[in-house]
Amino acid sequence: MADPPERSDRFTCPGTLHWRNRGIRVDRTLSVLLDDVKGGHRLNGKEALFLFSTRGRQVWEIAAAADEMRQERAGSAVTYVRNQNINVTNLCVNACGFCGFSKKPGDAGIYFHDQKEIRKRAAMAKKRQVTEICTVSGLHPDFTAESYADAYRWIREAAPDVHLHASNPMEVAYAAKKSRISTVEVMEMMKEAGLNSMCGTAAEILVDAVREKICRQKIPTKEWIRIITEAHGLGIPTTATIMYGHLETYGDWVKHLGILRDIQDETGGFTEFVPLSFIHMNTPLFRGGRARAGATGREDLLMVAVGRLFLDNFRNVQVSWVKEGIKLAQLGLIAGANDLGGTMFEESISKGAGAKNTDYLDPAEMERVAADIGRPLRRRTTLYELL
Ligand code: SF4
Repeated sequence: MADPPERSDRFTCPGTLHWRNRGIRVDRTLSVLLDDVKGGHRLNGKEALFLFSTRGRQVWEIAAAADEMRQERAGSAVTYVRNQNINVTNLCVNACGFCGFSKKPGDAGIYFHDQKEIRKRAAMAKKRQVTEICTVSGLHPDFTAESYADAYRWIREAAPDVHLHASNPMEVAYAAKKSRISTVEVMEMMKEAGLNSMCGTAAEILVDAVREKICRQKIPTKEWIRIITEAHGLGIPTTATIMYGHLETYGDWVKHLGILRDIQDETGGFTEFVPLSFIHMNTPLFRGGRARAGATGREDLLMVAVGRLFLDNFRNVQVSWVKEGIKLAQLGLIAGANDLGGTMFEESISKGAGAKNTDYLDPAEMERVAADIGRPLRRRTTLYELL
């Protein structure tokens, strides 16, 4: 990501912003910067780093500016999607340090849903009137590209009208390797079997030095970018995520956001930005003393707010009630987010990592939360058409 030159004279070091030799206080300069952003200035990396480093009541100024941008880009509605997860298996050949979901052969609590069970769960989703089924699973040792395509076909047959939001670049790379075909061929097979959009997960932090420490077996940054770009080229939209709050730095956040913005400039294929706050309790990274106990509330709010301000080519910013809890998620809605995510029947990934009450959020509760901040709640499709 290149920094635009026009503001670089305002910085002396990351986290310290001032007008050189002009004696203007930091808080005054923050308001100038935020006004500029509202007027169309594209934040550069140093400016984003400064915003992430902000503490105290200036956080509210950033949140307020992001809330104005939310109104301008996405309107006043708080949206949500009625969705259900089907995680086919938790058996996984990888061992990501932040993951509390995956199991190894011999572990207690391994599950694998066969064709009958997958069809049953998809039929249940249809009965629940969901408009989206999400499926991402462990990397089962026996899976090939055909295994993913079969599962998507079964879901499609049992729930023909439901949007299938499935896989991520890691699963695509794994299927390609196992079947000795290209990642494009894998996604073509998936699309043919019924895939409508792909999850932008497995991004974690798109900085290889961090990936080495938290998920060494995962695809490197370059491959994640290539597969996401290929998906967009095939007409498969994806979400854009960041998994933060473990051992990365604010500089890594900025690099990550820069990559997302560059891809969006090139393809326009991201539907939304979804910050995923690290759930630490049951993860090897935290238990081994190699990660902190998740992001703080300030950081969670700034990730939403700075994400909104920095990603000027995204319409939608989601605040995940599963990761944040409903109270902090509500604050995210007045700090730049316009979407609450899904109802999430049968969530198990965050639950595996130690999160509580992640199974289902009743739209009536979402309505209460939205009304409390004076905004209407609207149901949407996966691709943000209002229902
Ligand atoms: S994050 Fe995904 S790939 Fe990594 S261990 Fe967990 S299930 Fe496996």
